[in-house]
Amino acid sequence: MIDSPLLEKCAGYIGGRWVGAKSGQTFAVSNPATGDHLADVPVMADGETVAAIEAAVAALRKILSPEQRSTWLLSVGQKLLEHKQELARIVTLENGKPLKESLVEVEYAAGFFSYYSQQLSHLDPEALPKPVRNCRWMMHHRPAGVVGLITPWNFPLAMLAKKLAPAIAAGCSVVVKPARLTPLSTIALWALADSAGLPPGQLNLVIGQAGPIGETLCKHPEVRVISFTGSTKVGKTLALNAANHVKRLSLELGGNAPFIVCEDSDVDVAANALLVNKFRASGQTCVCANRVYAHRSIAEPFTDAVSSRVKELQVGDGLDPATDVGPLINRVAFDKVAEHVRDALAGGAQRIVGEDPPRPKHDWGCFYPPTVLTGVQTQMMLCRDETFGPVVGISVFNTEEAVVTEANSTQYGLAAYLFTQDSDRADRMIRQLHFGHVGFNTGTGPAPEAPFGGMKQSGFGREGGLEGLFEFCETQTVVRP
Ligand code: NAP
Repeated sequence: MIDSPLLEKCAGYIGGRWVGAKSGQTFAVSNPATGDHLADVPVMADGETVAAIEAAVAALRKILSPEQRSTWLLSVGQKLLEHKQELARIVTLENGKPLKESLVEVEYAAGFFSYYSQQLSHLDPEALPKPVRNCRWMMHHRPAGVVGLITPWNFPLAMLAKKLAPAIAAGCSVVVKPARLTPLSTIALWALADSAGLPPGQLNLVIGQAGPIGETLCKHPEVRVISFTGSTKVGKTLALNAANHVKRLSLELGGNAPFIVCEDSDVDVAANALLVNKFRASGQTCVCANRVYAHRSIAEPFTDAVSSRVKELQVGDGLDPATDVGPLINRVAFDKVAEHVRDALAGGAQRIVGEDPPRPKHDWGCFYPPTVLTGVQTQMMLCRDETFGPVVGISVFNTEEAVVTEANSTQYGLAAYLFTQDSDRADRMIRQLHFGHVGFNTGTGPAPEAPFGGMKQSGFGREGGLEGLFEFCETQTVVRP
């Protein structure tokens, strides 16, 4: 069992109180590296979700001033940093990622609280500069109301912080549902947020059955916005459920990022960027390169540069400081990666780094060896679907036009990366890439200060920046003579 001062209560949180499931049922959370049993958490469902929504509705009757919200956000951001080591340990224990990455995740999460604590003046009413129809016009940014936030397991703290901080900044009350595999980081954040002192009902946490909880959030008339990060498949289910109730959605869904290395790029810069981008969280990130395109003239040195670096990566338990790549989250994830590699090899790809690992006997210890493949083709699973694993699949391209067409030939539109030293070419290509986030000579992902989100079936809505704040606001226009 995990021993942590931040996990004294392994429970949900409704109306300002820690609560278990009405049924008394719990489920076990385990370490994906070792299989160790970490904690038992409640299996909540629709009944608890309705109670949480009602508590959130009641909390909205007491309006918090911008100063109160800003103070709370600042305080939570600081608490996250004060407890950085402990929070990072919890993220690594339940998610498997290396501790050094978990520390970065905690800082990233804290960044959303501190950023939004400073943005509340953007919610001040705005006036049209001149009378229209002999009237004065004022636009007010009202809180949307109760919001439902559903988060995934791959960045259990950061994906929550991206939603929770702007929702509270906007003046909303929240009902959060974390992923079944990683609820402990959320509970730990709650322990810190609780002590920062918001009124009861402002923050509610429901842990348990995804289907009934999600459906209740979509159907309940008092929930005004659902903000979801996860797979495109589940995003579509939520969109269908929410449509009947004309409910606002913000959907941060899957990706299939192209990583394009042109003939005039610095091969070492591109290889270094790819390593960090691709192997973070064992390749289980929505923004990681999924398809790597190298221009024919530099494909060989680029492949060599990538391969020599990948061979150096240490695979192991995330708590070991030497570890660069942790386990995959479970056996389903392992099987998907193995299937993608098998499919590519059967289609003619060559494995430059890596080997066939034995299928794990359990749902833990699912370590997949960092792998580099060349000769990857469009029709292969590696190119068509998110692999979500530590596999680099390199394809060769000949022309700028062809690689842009190829990069766009996916239903996804989340992140893309382009390496070239020609800024005219970069402008031309970036304008044509249908992706919400483009790294130009960098593999870096999103930041709290800038809007981030997808095009096409990677979703809609933005997180981060002021756009992320306005996802949780309604504009009310008041006209008076
Ligand atoms: P997932 O299976 O879609 O789960 C995400 C969340 O949705 C979890 O809390 C899950 O709960 C919940 N859920 C599952 N079924 C549901 C339902 N019917 N109704 C309501 N909620 C439901 O995704 P995942 O495997 O955790 O995350 C990986 C995916 O997230 C990848 O596709 C990745 O690209 C995407 N992602 C996108 C972004 C982005 O910013 N665009 C960021 C990170 C990840 P349970 O865990 O209890 O099943």
